Amino acid sequence: MYDFTYLRPRTVAEAVEALRTGFDPKLMAGGMTLLPTMKARLASPATLIDLADIGELRGISVRDNRLEIGAMTRHYDVASDGTVRARIPALADLAGGIADRQVRYRGTMGGSLSNSDPSADYPAAALALDARMITSQKTEAAGDFLLGTFATSLEEDEVLCRISFAIPEAAAYEKIPNPASGYAMTGVFVARLAEGHRVGVTGAASEFFRHRDLETALDGGADHAAALDVPAPDREYLADMHGDARYRRNLVRVAAARAIQKMQS
Ligand SMILES: Cc1cc2nc3c(=O)[nH]c(=O)nc-3n(C[C@H](O)[C@H](O)[C@H](O)COP(=O)(O)OP(=O)(O)OC[C@H]3O[C@@H](n4cnc5c(N)ncnc54)[C@H](O)[C@@H]3O)c2cc1C
Repeated sequence: MYDFTYLRPRTVAEAVEALRTGFDPKLMAGGMTLLPTMKARLASPATLIDLADIGELRGISVRDNRLEIGAMTRHYDVASDGTVRARIPALADLAGGIADRQVRYRGTMGGSLSNSDPSADYPAAALALDARMITSQKTEAAGDFLLGTFATSLEEDEVLCRISFAIPEAAAYEKIPNPASGYAMTGVFVARLAEGHRVGVTGAASEFFRHRDLETALDGGADHAAALDVPAPDREYLADMHGDARYRRNLVRVAAARAIQKMQS
């Protein structure tokens, strides 16, 4: 490691102030992505702002029929919390399927969504559950927050504070993991909300997206077998040694049908 200034603010306001006044600052949640990146010298912030002591960034609560989760809530807590399990079990299942136990004990929902890795799991849930991203500056829909590969709408002096999810009537997540990394080669989150179905897709393309044709089919009463007839939308699908773009596009269809079967059973 190299020398840097390490700060541990106790409030969001202090963290924002540190972002504004610190030299070349960077926020740290659990460090699960950031620390390896620093070790590899792909990032070398001069001021590291550790969010660990900020109590207002933690916690899980229900408000106005929405589930609100603090950005510093760890994957382990999302997976095991009784309120999440009771209100959105599919979200708890998703969190329990992230990485390994060590990463789930350190990695956070806010760190994952702020990082916007195109193969991360939470973005699919955020799109399907009509999530609102509550930051130190604004509240906006997940679709506006998640701009693409490692890109969000966060400004340099902005902290993601909480994520508010609609509580669905039913929901399910299906992930087809990359055999090497365990990240999603494709992950599809389906949800039936009071106002209709929503389907969020991660991993398959360079951007997360909603599968609107499938949402329409589900609103029309399609089951998992009928869902197989709904092709994934035209997009730029990812291609690598684990699967080409055509294969990834087909995985969306397969993962969606499995998720729908789980949701409807
Ligand atoms: C071995 C391994 C396997 C993994 N497998 C999976 C997987 O299968 N699925 C999956 O979804 N993820 C996976 N991950 C990612 C993991 O889930 C972490 O959530 C992710 O690495 C972010 O970690 P973190 O929360 O510790 O954030 P950090 O690494 O601390 O931060 C990540 C980035 O977000 C920024 N940031 C953090 N918190 C905030 C905030 N509140 N406001 C604004 N910016 C913020 C930081 O500045 C940094 O740029 C894996 C990671 C590892 C190391």
